[in-house]
Amino acid sequence: PAAPPTSAAEVLARRGRVLAEVQEHYYAEPPQVERGWREHLADVDGRVYLDVVNNVTSVGHAHPRIEQAAHRQLRLLNTNSRFHYAAVAEFAEKIAATLPDELDTVFLVNSGSEAVDLALRIAMAATGRRHVVAMREAYHGWTFASDAVSTSIADNPNALATRPDWVHTVDAANSYRGRHRGEDAHRYAPEAVATIRDLASRVDLAGFVAETYFGNAGGVALPPGYLREVYAAVREAGGLAVADEVQVGYGRLGHWFWGFQQQGVVPDVVAVAKSVGNGFPLGAVVTRREVADRYRTQGYFFSSTGGSPLSSVVGSTVLDVIADERLQENAAVVGGHLEQRLTGLAGKHELIGAVHGDGLYLGVEFVRDRGTLEPATAETAAICDRLLELGVVVQPTGDHQNVLKVKPPLCIARESVDFFVDALDRVLVEGW
Ligand code: PMP
Repeated sequence: PAAPPTSAAEVLARRGRVLAEVQEHYYAEPPQVERGWREHLADVDGRVYLDVVNNVTSVGHAHPRIEQAAHRQLRLLNTNSRFHYAAVAEFAEKIAATLPDELDTVFLVNSGSEAVDLALRIAMAATGRRHVVAMREAYHGWTFASDAVSTSIADNPNALATRPDWVHTVDAANSYRGRHRGEDAHRYAPEAVATIRDLASRVDLAGFVAETYFGNAGGVALPPGYLREVYAAVREAGGLAVADEVQVGYGRLGHWFWGFQQQGVVPDVVAVAKSVGNGFPLGAVVTRREVADRYRTQGYFFSSTGGSPLSSVVGSTVLDVIADERLQENAAVVGGHLEQRLTGLAGKHELIGAVHGDGLYLGVEFVRDRGTLEPATAETAAICDRLLELGVVVQPTGDHQNVLKVKPPLCIARESVDFFVDALDRVLVEGW
């Protein structure tokens, strides 16, 4: 057996030897993190960092209520989801209660990839059709179907050329960069509708899948009315509207618990994960009863640990904490303050082309030129490295990797937000 690790660098080397190369980590020289508390992380040398990137640990690191609930449940019982116990019914009821009444039927899984995969298979089974329309610049997961609709070239330059024949795409409806900007962004919806109608005349359309808020592509809201028009066209063509809420749902947007509420629509199938388990592997798909019932005609579903006693207790506790600590409200208030302060920075530093987002899902987009919007990709990476030295963990996102994805735990304090903005200001003043 290997000797006990002696340094962060040595552990990193061991990691590199034993894990697949694609299983990446943040930073070329990452700190070896050992502890977390609320929005803070501590490394093995006792250095403390502010975690501004963590939308998985949404209610905060090492939350005592989750630790206690999981501990208690592990001592009592944990087994596969085919047994009969109360926790699974309680958790599924709680998730369904956060959604519009018609979305009343829950499938419990273990990750976002599984949730999106199952959501697509449900759409295919319910319609008896196969073809799916996805938005470009999207990431939806690594499993067969969720990967098929992942169109972002950030991590896979061949993404668009290698999608299966049942996947079709529409433009990334980005109102900041892309073909239609600002006021012109209303053009994306009719174009997508035209594509959907054209496809529907040639292939059997099962549905449309997209993040309901343009998350991975930079934290940009979809243009007003976009999903209303696109969902209508998909339904007119006999397909279902599938919403990926893995990143943007669960209170993060502050004013809305779910991203689709920002668009004023109700999807047919909702996929969610990440925040659902606060880092514990948990995901869910929620749909209408008659849609769920059609799944059995074509698919088999059983998840050993999806909705296990332990998963269910963790999931229920996360929802209780979000409610009891009023974390959605915190996302609105502290997120509003953060957005204001970042917008202030944009007035001072030319490199900040725009501040996108809502609540605690924000994107700080760096450009070399505010006219051409040339992405400041290398600068964004260097800024992240310098911010790490100053004690802030934050990462780039988007096809150009030039947007800081700002999505901290929802419990983040105003002081922490100020610390982050002051650190970013300092980097932009001093250089990186
Ligand atoms: N959908 C979206 C929008 C995501 O951001 C991710 C993860 N980054 C996934 C799906 C896949 O989730 P998971 O990593 O839990 O499989």
